[in-house]
Amino acid sequence: MNLGIAGRWALVCAASKGLGKACAQALVSEGVNVVITARGEQVLEETARQLRALNPAVSVIAVAGDISTSAGRAAALAAHGHFDILINNAGGPPPGDFREWDRDAWLKALDANMLTPIELIKATVDGMAERGFGRIVNITSSAVKSPIESLGLSNGARSGLTGFIAGIARQDGIASRNVTINNLQPGSFDTDRLRENLVEAAQEMGQDSEAFLDDYRREIPAKRFGTPEEFGALCAFVCSQHASYLTGQNLLIDGGAVRSSQ
Ligand code: NAP
Repeated sequence: MNLGIAGRWALVCAASKGLGKACAQALVSEGVNVVITARGEQVLEETARQLRALNPAVSVIAVAGDISTSAGRAAALAAHGHFDILINNAGGPPPGDFREWDRDAWLKALDANMLTPIELIKATVDGMAERGFGRIVNITSSAVKSPIESLGLSNGARSGLTGFIAGIARQDGIASRNVTINNLQPGSFDTDRLRENLVEAAQEMGQDSEAFLDDYRREIPAKRFGTPEEFGALCAFVCSQHASYLTGQNLLIDGGAVRSSQ
């Protein structure tokens, strides 16, 4: 299927590794020009090099910086004159006990996983509406649907974003101007973040980490973790011209892990 987005410009946040990188790869394969961000410059530059090799016909611009800061966002937005596609992503907050999270811990989580996407939407959505095409995808988590106890900061911040998106996606002048806003809710995808979290959980419980990972996989109906490529492919479809009628949705991609009929 030709996704019909070749030549578009995308800002893909937090994209040197994992799910963000997979989204950038899928978009670049479709001929989309990308601005990618991450804090660590070296890994980001290597990812940019891989993306250019994947499709030499597109422009790939790497902007190193922390997307949860106003300076990081300004630098990313300044890298190109306009964006047709925005993929909101950032690192997830750390796990822990809610009794130990002070106001600063909450503000950090809200900044990264709620307020940054909102700021980037504010900066790009009106231009998309004027041009009559826009795709905004927020990478949230299956934890919005089925909260993970130890990830309270993530559950809270991402649920806040989800409620906000449900309202604005339907606002006059957004959906009616072919600008869609959707959230992708990953379950367990084989990335550094997932492995770090699970290994830490295994260590806390005094268990062998490989055995713990195996048990974790067995609990998923698909009996495996998702691959970043599978996630990127869904992201690219949601950004495609074929997905104009898909907006304000939370798309769970989790190998069946969340037991729910809705
Ligand atoms: P990952 O493999 O650790 O990759 C995270 C990427 O984001 C890296 O490129 C990292 O580069 C960048 N990044 C992190 N914080 C950033 C910041 N403040 N500004 C700019 N770039 C930043 O993580 P992942 O598994 O792809 O997860 C991506 C998001 O999905 C996270 O929010 C995670 O909580 C969520 N999620 C993941 C899963 C899963 O199974 N993997 C499930 C549910 C939700 P630098 O460190 O160099 O900045």
